[in-house]
Amino acid sequence: HQLIQELEDTIQNIPDFPKPGIQFKDITPIFLKPDLYKDVIKDLAEFSRGKIDAVCGIESRGYLFGIAIAVALDVPFVLIRKKGKLPPPFVGQKYDLEYGSAEIEMRTGQIKSGQRILIHDDLLATGGTTEAAALLVQKQGARISQFSFLIALEELGGKERLKQFEAEVHQILT
Ligand code: 5GP
Repeated sequence: HQLIQELEDTIQNIPDFPKPGIQFKDITPIFLKPDLYKDVIKDLAEFSRGKIDAVCGIESRGYLFGIAIAVALDVPFVLIRKKGKLPPPFVGQKYDLEYGSAEIEMRTGQIKSGQRILIHDDLLATGGTTEAAALLVQKQGARISQFSFLIALEELGGKERLKQFEAEVHQILT
């Protein structure tokens, strides 16, 4: 598949970032290639066409593709932010990190009860961030219909962690 090949050639693997032993996937070179960016959006939008009522993107790389997916499908885009960035009223969800915990937040009322939601992020690793986003969406009475990512690192167990939501999962690169 040509899209997969071009993405593999474009995304850079950075060893020992942000910590020793971690291989960081740098997606920023995608934005130097507008035609590749458009093909990525086309792929992600086709996965969700007709199946969702809103897109929730996770700060911050989830915004880079999520808002374009939402615009392509003519549905609302809602930002899920790290704690402390949004003005009230907002709802929050805590989650555990390797060391300590974190919290994400969303403006109250931006997603509606009963809506079918796509949660989008650039990369799925352990699934902790995405799981917290899904719990935050469910708290507001909306349904998790789909998850999408550019990349899923399958050996880290993220896919298993998302099974509880019984939603479709799509990634371009595994
Ligand atoms: P998880 O919560 O699934 O363990 O981690 C996923 C989150 O961390 C995503 O928000 C993603 O943007 C970020 N992340 C973790 N590792 C990488 C990486 O190698 N490259 C990029 N671009 N993001 C990463």
